Amino acid sequence: MTLQVSLPKKPGHDLVDSCVYGPVRSRRLGWSLGINWFAPMTKVCNFDCVYCQLGPTDRLPRREDFVSPAVFTHEVETAFARIASTGIPVDVITISGNGEPTLHPQTPDLIDRLLAARDRYFPTARTWILTNGARIHVDGIAQSLNRLDERAVKLDGVGSWFVAVDKPLFGFRWETFVEGLRKLRDYHLQVMVVKGLGENIAPAALAEWVEWVHRQELRPKSIQLYTVDRCPAYDGVRPLAPSEMAQVADRLVQALPGVPLEIVWPE
Ligand code: SF4
Repeated sequence: MTLQVSLPKKPGHDLVDSCVYGPVRSRRLGWSLGINWFAPMTKVCNFDCVYCQLGPTDRLPRREDFVSPAVFTHEVETAFARIASTGIPVDVITISGNGEPTLHPQTPDLIDRLLAARDRYFPTARTWILTNGARIHVDGIAQSLNRLDERAVKLDGVGSWFVAVDKPLFGFRWETFVEGLRKLRDYHLQVMVVKGLGENIAPAALAEWVEWVHRQELRPKSIQLYTVDRCPAYDGVRPLAPSEMAQVADRLVQALPGVPLEIVWPE
């Protein structure tokens, strides 16, 4: 498969140019650092979500997109030492960055190195990873994700709704996605809902989501419901109003009674 279009990144897109970004403070999480192990300002993903704040996915990953473990360690050590010297009490460290983190072929090694630095500089900080779940089933990935404190896996839709909103480009199969989820010791489900382009809130879309989650007997720690708040990859993607978010939330909790659902608003 080839991807040859080269779409312009808009000024509002949030690609980062280093392995550590932040800290930023939020009411919900406290002081938070982001971790990126892809090349500066380079998006690396196997999805092309219409709402992605990193801009469109315009090509396949290349070898030079992956930061080496040695460079990663150097950048993390340097940044963590600098931030620790300021006295900022880091509460959360989230692996996300310039794309889908598990596409890096050395993901387990990078997680080991990050956890070693966390233990040294910010031992009370909780570590998270945000993933689209396409590669959790691959040998060694789930085991390394399970060493983190929390895992958040995207599930924005199923069937044609999933294709419309997340636009998987390569490497995704439902069978292996479920296989990967079952290898995780626990996980949160993240659901992004949008209107307009990629709209995934039609009654039929939510019904399919509920039915699929029931059928797979998924048991996440929580559901985190989002709507778009940053510059989306494509024009025509619109956020939901609070009343619409509440309606979607009602529908999703029917799928997973007893599982907490949090609507996450931008701060
Ligand atoms: S999976 Fe994440 S990084 Fe990839 S296109 Fe979707 S939102 Fe962007």
